Amino acid sequence: MIRPVSSSPAGAKASIAGTDPIAAKRLVLATDLDGTFLGGSTAEREQLYRWIERNRDTVGLIFVTGREVGFIRQLTSDGCVPRPDFVVADVGTTIAAPDAEAGFAPIAALEAEIAARWGDAGARVRTALADVGGLSLQPTDFRYRVSYDMNPDRFDQRAFGIVADLGLDALASDNRFFDVLPRGISKGPSLRRLLADLGVPDQRVLVAGDTLNDLSMLALGLPAVAVGNSEPALLAQLSGHDHVHRAKAEGAAGIAEAIRRFGYLSHNAA
Ligand SMILES: [Mg+2]
Repeated sequence: MIRPVSSSPAGAKASIAGTDPIAAKRLVLATDLDGTFLGGSTAEREQLYRWIERNRDTVGLIFVTGREVGFIRQLTSDGCVPRPDFVVADVGTTIAAPDAEAGFAPIAALEAEIAARWGDAGARVRTALADVGGLSLQPTDFRYRVSYDMNPDRFDQRAFGIVADLGLDALASDNRFFDVLPRGISKGPSLRRLLADLGVPDQRVLVAGDTLNDLSMLALGLPAVAVGNSEPALLAQLSGHDHVHRAKAEGAAGIAEAIRRFGYLSHNAA
């Protein structure tokens, strides 16, 4: 059990972010959740989360995740996990900011192209993939994606061609998930769009991830870390990307290792 990291009540304004615009922060951590920010031991997670809260004036936080915003709201509701300044959720198909009710509101201007590229394709996707082996439709109705749980032993590779014929992108990750996304949309392009809109300088960013659906953001060319427990298929794809630190430590401890290695902050070492 991780103890609360913020001294103010859950959802209170003071726990959301420091008072400075995120573009002025010395570090903006853009991190995947499962296996990355939520990975590592309880003690390692608590250490990183407390360090972030102590340094909110100079550290910005963006979650870049396959999860939906409802999960993030729940995750951060008891103050044990720091609340992000912004989120790129639903594998890059949602770009949102905290709203007054301590939830997250989509930023319509940044999502316009995502919606246009999706073109209300949900029903077409579900019909086209209905009989494909090894795919179980996830029960949630997402706005701009269709997602499946994947059984790798039964998975029929023809699914990739079917999705391409629909004019959409397919993304298999962690040998467990199969996402159908608008063409050209994933974590990386949506994070890039958000950072550009916010005016965050590239050298202030640290991107962190652990599976193949993180590849598009780890490969942006921004300072990045693949945490120690990363999926082998991700590490293989990162060959030649020398800007990506391969951490020895896992999950949250791998992020802390990268913060130290890249030397973002000279005080209060993570
Ligand atoms: Mg992950």
